[in-house]
Amino acid sequence: FLPHLVASLEQVEQTYIMVKPDGVQRGLVGEIISRFERKGFKLTGLKLFQCHKELAEEHYKDLKTKSFYPTLIDYITSGPVVCMVWEGVGVVASARKLIGSTNPLQAEPGTIRGDLAVQTGRNVVHGSDSPENGKRETGRFLLLKEKKGWDLSVESGTGDLSSLAALWFKEGELCEWTPAQAPWLME
Ligand code: GDP
Ligand code: MG
Repeated sequence: FLPHLVASLEQVEQTYIMVKPDGVQRGLVGEIISRFERKGFKLTGLKLFQCHKELAEEHYKDLKTKSFYPTLIDYITSGPVVCMVWEGVGVVASARKLIGSTNPLQAEPGTIRGDLAVQTGRNVVHGSDSPENGKRETGRFLLLKEKKGWDLSVESGTGDLSSLAALWFKEGELCEWTPAQAPWLME
């Protein structure tokens, strides 16, 4: 039990990081995971997964009206992806910085996209853009599918689980643990 680590629990965020099919095909899985691992964030979920069309459409529903939307759905479902949840204080914004700009030609050297990609349509990795979307995408809050759409107000572990569905992770797929290095990362 480490009281100094529990104190800031409310500030702890989750972000959904995904190595896209091009990253998997190009053998960049280890490289991408290691950047988050070396930074000092905590991995709480990890799997190789073949994304289906319905999930890709739900994940990218805000981009539905964009001209590139059909090719985006084809791209994300074109092969296995690596789904991850990384946890930590400020992890959502920090992961976006580690990933770099959407267009890899504009992404700074030192970022994942800046170092490893050249085109927006093949930008190797996804990261949640807000703490709220981090929750939506990691399945920390399960989604209640209703006629209106997806209700984020239903928390994981409560209510009738048979009526619930997670976005990228299911109940039981995430691990709560304390890394041995924790006291050497946070004072
Ligand atoms: P992100 O948050 O940096 O991933 O960028 P967005 O949320 O704006 O877009 C989501 C994903 O859609 C991007 O990572 C790209 O894979 C794809 N995308 C965005 N804009 C374009 C575009 O102009 N052309 C193509 N082909 N794909 C795009
Ligand atoms: Mg985005």
